Amino acid sequence: MAERRSIFITGGASGIGQAIALYFAERGWFVGIADVNEKGMEETLGQIAGGFKYAHRLDVRDRAQWDEALAAFETAAGGRIDVVVNNAGIGAGGDIATMPVDEIDRCLDINLRGVLYGAQAAYPYLKKTAPGSALINTASAAGILGSSGMSVYCATKFGVRGIAESLDAEWADDGIKVASICPSFIDTPLLDGTGSRNSNELIRDRVTDAGLEITPVVEVAEAAWKAVHGDDLHYLVGKTAKKMNFAKRWMPGRL
Ligand code: NAD
Repeated sequence: MAERRSIFITGGASGIGQAIALYFAERGWFVGIADVNEKGMEETLGQIAGGFKYAHRLDVRDRAQWDEALAAFETAAGGRIDVVVNNAGIGAGGDIATMPVDEIDRCLDINLRGVLYGAQAAYPYLKKTAPGSALINTASAAGILGSSGMSVYCATKFGVRGIAESLDAEWADDGIKVASICPSFIDTPLLDGTGSRNSNELIRDRVTDAGLEITPVVEVAEAAWKAVHGDDLHYLVGKTAKKMNFAKRWMPGRL
C-alpha cells in the first residue's frame, strides 16, 4: 500500500488554513496544522475524522519554532512531509501616512518574514520527499494588484508571490515545486475583524457595499489541491478577481 502523504499548514486554526486541512484530510492525507491559536486548532482537529491529524503551536515569526514544529510533525506523520503551506497571515489596512509603525512591522513579520522562515525550514523535508513535494504560499489577489489603503498588505503579498516564483526556479533541480494561491475576498474571519486582522474596520461590509462578491472558503482549498497537483505558478481564486479581470482598480474607494 502506498504511504500516506502528509501536509503541514500554518494558520490551520481558522479560515483558509482550516478549509485546506479539512479538504486534504477528506482525501486521505495526514494533516498537520500549526497556529498561535490553540483553541482554534482543537476545533479544526475536531472536524477531522480518524487519527491522521496533528497540531503544533507555532508562531511563524520564530525561526527556531519552525524547526521544532516540522521535526515533530515529520515524526507524527510517519517520517515524511510532502507539502508545506505557508498560509498564516494577517491584514493591515489604512493610510501609510498614519499607520502605526508596530502595525507595519507586525504585518511584514507575519506575512513575509514568516513565509521566508517557513520556506527555509521546510526545504530539507521537502527535498527528502521530492519529486512530488511542494511548498504552497497563500498570497492574495492583493499580491497582483495594488489598491488604495493597502500598501503594507500588498507589499507582503507581492513579496509572497515573488518568493514562490523564485523558489520554484531555485528548487527545480531538487524536484520540489512551489506555487502561490491568490484568493480575493474569501469568506473567513479575516474579513470581519474577528480573525487575526489588526484593524477593527469591517472589510466584509465594505466589500458587499461596493457590489463585490465574497467567495466560499472551500474554493481556496480546491485551489490548494490543484496547486499541489498541477504545474501553474499562481492560482487565482475568487469571483471578484475574475470579474474585475485584472483591472487596475479592483476595489473602488479604499479598504
Ligand atoms: P484567518 O484570520 O481566518 O486565519 C489566519 C490564521 O493565521 C489564524 O488562525 C491566526 O491565528 C493565524 N496566525 C496569525 N498570526 C500568526 C502567527 N504569527 N503564527 C502562526 N499563525 C498565525 O484569515 P484567512 O482569511 O484564513 O487568511 C489566511 C491567509 O489567506 C492569510 O495569509 C491571508 O492574508 C490570506 N488571504 C485571505 C483572503 C480573504 O479574503 N480572507 C484573501 C486573500 C488572502
